[in-house]
Amino acid sequence: MNSRPKKSFGQHFLHEKRYIERIVGAVAPRADDFVVEIGPGEGALTLPLLAAAGRLTAIELDTDLIPGLQARAAAVGELSIVHADVLKVDFTALAHRHGVERLRLAGNLPYYISSPILFHCVEHAAAIRDMHFMLQKEVVDRMAAEPGSKVYGRLSVMLQLACRVIPLFTVPPGAFRPPPKVDSAVVRLEPLAAHELHDADPDRLHAIVKAAFAQRRKTLANGLRQLLDAEAIRSAGIDPKARAETLAPMDFVRLAKVPAGA
Ligand code: SAM
Repeated sequence: MNSRPKKSFGQHFLHEKRYIERIVGAVAPRADDFVVEIGPGEGALTLPLLAAAGRLTAIELDTDLIPGLQARAAAVGELSIVHADVLKVDFTALAHRHGVERLRLAGNLPYYISSPILFHCVEHAAAIRDMHFMLQKEVVDRMAAEPGSKVYGRLSVMLQLACRVIPLFTVPPGAFRPPPKVDSAVVRLEPLAAHELHDADPDRLHAIVKAAFAQRRKTLANGLRQLLDAEAIRSAGIDPKARAETLAPMDFVRLAKVPAGA
């Protein structure tokens, strides 16, 4: 216990019991759930999640933490530790391998790669039932932002087209060892059902959203110049003089579905 936290791995260990209890209460694991924890660290969340679910798979990059975690979990339940970079873990294959339809993900994420982890999870959303993540509060604000908000952007659009984003509560720096420089927040993500999902080409959608928000102050006609001309934007029912931050997530889907050369 109490290893020296490594900055390079984004290690900020949760130690305040009431926040640990609130997170575990929000996940509310049941005995037949297949829970996967990202970044178990010293086990602050792992052990109570394991106690509730009976089995748990944890993905940890730091080898030094694994033996201690294994030892602490032995009497609690069936813990399987995957030593890997979470960005390389194929969640869909993991679910298939274990014969489960959908995983439940949880974790106090390493903040240095929080956005890449979110985008990675979205790619595997069909194999995920829900996710409960601790992140920088500023990131949770961006994830849940609505059109017109200053922090509405690529992360808001891409996440909201794949999941319901439900911010739960904030957590102060003092709840961690060492304390991070920023406030944190816990968010629940619920992947949309197949019939709720958009049918635009994902690569085209990514390219449009990325270009539209690359220069937020520009009009869409300017920002999307390389991808769609003003007439094509108009054909999707959208004003080419509008700015990306005023468009709803589904407006980007409409832009992505404009046939090439329209
Ligand atoms: N869950 C613990 C807690 O709440 O006390 C630790 C959380 S700490 C913020 C993030 C954890 O993610 C650390 O254990 C760190 O070693 C691990 N980690 C960092 N980068 C990772 C990666 N790419 N893949 C998997 N785990 C990673």
